[in-house]
Amino acid sequence: MKGSIKLFEVFGISINIHVTFFLLLLLVLSGGIKWVFLVIAVFFFVTIHELCHSLMAKRFGITVREITLFPIGGISSMTKMPEKPSQEFFISIAGPLSNIAVIVILFYPMKYLVGDEVLFHPLSTMTWKLTFAYVYWINLMLAGFNLLPAFPMDGGRILRAILAVKLGYQKATKIAVTFGHLFALAFAYFGIVRFNIILIVIAIFIYTAASNEEAQVDVKEALKKFRVRDILPRDLITLPSDTTLAKVLELIFHSHQEDFPVMDGGEMVGFLTRQDIMINIHNFGMEKQVGDVMRKSFPKVKETDPLTKAQALMHERQMGALPVMKDDKVVGVITLEDIGRVYAMVSQKA
Ligand SMILES: [Zn+2]
Repeated sequence: MKGSIKLFEVFGISINIHVTFFLLLLLVLSGGIKWVFLVIAVFFFVTIHELCHSLMAKRFGITVREITLFPIGGISSMTKMPEKPSQEFFISIAGPLSNIAVIVILFYPMKYLVGDEVLFHPLSTMTWKLTFAYVYWINLMLAGFNLLPAFPMDGGRILRAILAVKLGYQKATKIAVTFGHLFALAFAYFGIVRFNIILIVIAIFIYTAASNEEAQVDVKEALKKFRVRDILPRDLITLPSDTTLAKVLELIFHSHQEDFPVMDGGEMVGFLTRQDIMINIHNFGMEKQVGDVMRKSFPKVKETDPLTKAQALMHERQMGALPVMKDDKVVGVITLEDIGRVYAMVSQKA
């Protein structure tokens, strides 16, 4: 994500920190070491929260590439969205549950360590014990804030998942988005009457994120109506496996196709995307044959598949194009640009 720095990697997930986190750190630096400790603790518990989302997503076969941490929460970049409402429910609730678990598990140890008086004292960083109590209660704030039934918070996703069972995805989203807008207006109101800039920033953030979610779902629903064959280019060029890369480059210049199935005796034996061609020319030169550099394992789509499926597959495998099949025979190539054009058309109407 833009404006973020990679910190480390855990479970194959890269943990990134957004620059605003450092701004927060700079801001509290004047408050002394206890404030710095507090911010690092927030960072720690937000990471645990996000990792719990990610690990639950992994259980449903959804890969998470990176987690970006903001001062008020994190964003997990998933390779695809959960398909079933129940999956979205469990992925969304896993985060807040981790904070609630911390509160429950540490309750007696904290009571023992800092004593009742300090534990239930109003939040303060006067002493180290009070600071520890503060850090402990931050988990309650994280759970509470994220459980607000408003997009884009976890609570909004939980609400949509529950509503989607009965109402369907699009209608459920509309309702959750409306809640998001109402909460945003409430935050904005309190932000203005109390001159609290942070509340106003959160209000703007919630409002735009909720609106984005609605637009995305609308476009996705509209895209569902299109199938791969609806936008498939009419003519297809395939390559014999002894074609040189020089010849492929010539083909690209003289046709509209940039990604090619490789054929051998009427069978597709490989696939070569535009990126593959460029990288291999760079690495091996123009005289290399496609049979030596082609991809041998790659996903395929059927011409009857919905566009959303083709798009999700490309996103997941990070490929710009895929071969299209009809009864075991390759009939075309679909690219992200093709889908992007439809996407642009549909979202203009929406
Ligand atoms: Zn969350």
